[in-house]
Amino acid sequence: MNVALTYFLYRFAWGSLDLIFPPLCGGCGKPGSRWCRDCQHNVQHLVEPVCDICGISIDGLGLCADCQAARPRYHILRSWSVFDDPVRNALHKLKYRRDVALGDALAAQLLKFTMNLKWPVEMIVPVPLGKKRLKERGYDQVNLIARPLALAAGIVYAPDGLVRIRETRSQVGLSRAERRTNVNGAFLAQGKRVKSRVVLLIDDVATTGSTLSSCAEALYAAGARDVFALTVSRALTHHGLNNV
Ligand SMILES: [Zn+2]
Ligand SMILES: [Zn+2]
Repeated sequence: MNVALTYFLYRFAWGSLDLIFPPLCGGCGKPGSRWCRDCQHNVQHLVEPVCDICGISIDGLGLCADCQAARPRYHILRSWSVFDDPVRNALHKLKYRRDVALGDALAAQLLKFTMNLKWPVEMIVPVPLGKKRLKERGYDQVNLIARPLALAAGIVYAPDGLVRIRETRSQVGLSRAERRTNVNGAFLAQGKRVKSRVVLLIDDVATTGSTLSSCAEALYAAGARDVFALTVSRALTHHGLNNV
C-alpha cells in the first residue's frame, strides 16, 4: 500500500476512535484533543544560536564547550523542545501509560521539525530499550513516536537496527563522564540493515547525548554511512543530571 494512504488510514483510525472516546491533552489533561493549542503554544524550543553538533543553546557560534572537549560520534543532534512542561508531562505519560495515540500526536509535531532540517536520511532507527526494561514496561515508548514518524515521513523504519547488548543502569544521577562509561559499548547495530545507509537515530530525551553517541558509534562500526540524531526533548543544565 502506498505510504501516504497507509498514514491517512492510520490517522483516520485514531480520528474515529476520538468520536467514541474524546481524548485528553497529553500536555495538560484538558479534554478535546491529544495535543491542545495552549500546549502547542507553550512548547519551549532551544534558543538560537545552537551548537553546530549537539544543538544546545550557546552564546557565540560554532561548538559548545562539551563538543569541543570531546566530539560526539553522531553527525548532528537536534531536539524539538526543551524538557519542560507540557512536553515533559507528555513524555512521562508516554513512558508509564502506553498512550499510543499520544505518541502519534508527538510524532506529528516532530514531523514538521524533521522535514525542516532537510537531512538526507534514509532510515529511522530508535534507541532501543534493554530487554529487562522492555519486559517490565511491556512496550518501548520511543517506538510509539518513531514508528508513526517514519510512516508519516515515508522513511524506512528499522526498529531492529540497534540492539542493547548489555543492560545499563539508569543514567539518572550520573555525571557526564559516568554516563559515557555506562553506555559505552552497550549497543550493537545490524550490519545487514544499516550498511551504507544514512541513519536517523530517534530518542525521547537527550541529556548529555552520551547514549546517542554510543548508538552512533555502533552504527558506524556496522557500516552506516552517516548518523543524524533527533530527540523529542532536550534536558538542559537547569534540569541537572538527576532527572533524566
Ligand atoms: Zn494541553
Ligand atoms: Zn555541542
